[in-house]
Amino acid sequence: MKSSKSVRDYIRTIADFPHEGILFRDVTTLFADPRGFRMAIDQMLHPYVGERIDKVVGLEARGLILGGAIAHQLGIGFVPIRKKGKLPGTTISQDYKLEYGEAIVEIHDDAILPGENVLVVDDLLATGGTAEAGIKLLERLGANIVGCAFIVDLPELGGRKLLEKLGMDVHALCE
Ligand code: IMP
Repeated sequence: MKSSKSVRDYIRTIADFPHEGILFRDVTTLFADPRGFRMAIDQMLHPYVGERIDKVVGLEARGLILGGAIAHQLGIGFVPIRKKGKLPGTTISQDYKLEYGEAIVEIHDDAILPGENVLVVDDLLATGGTAEAGIKLLERLGANIVGCAFIVDLPELGGRKLLEKLGMDVHALCE
């Protein structure tokens, strides 16, 4: 029998993680289910089928898992954007604001050629600060960003508006 579960139905919510008062949307339950995971990957790449995409770029941490699967499905390469100090080669860095303090993300400086078309992926869009930092890195390397795909968008936190203001095409599977 065919199940009518949607991507949203595989995501669990954990209260008070990583801090009290936060409702954490946990996609590990989606990743662990073969049908759910395949559905998420297929739906994330669906708007971009037929477009020329050279590389998928995944944002640490869960964007690395999604990005690998999407790149494999599209038959193209994968590039990670990681937290400071994790990439072994020569990198460029970008800082961004967190709720408390700052963080830095990095990309290898030779990971993208100028003019390459890239798709940016992560599990969740909240304030958009993480994705914005990734976009800045990619633009510094001369990438052409075809779209930014997420599983979850939390619209009240303004990330979609921020990315759209930057001229991005934002695709999310659920709110
Ligand atoms: P933003 O920078 O405020 O948009 O936060 C998005 C980043 O934080 C992404 O890399 C997410 O993986 C992570 N994140 C924030 N809240 C959650 C959540 O509830 N579940 C999973 N990841 C989250």
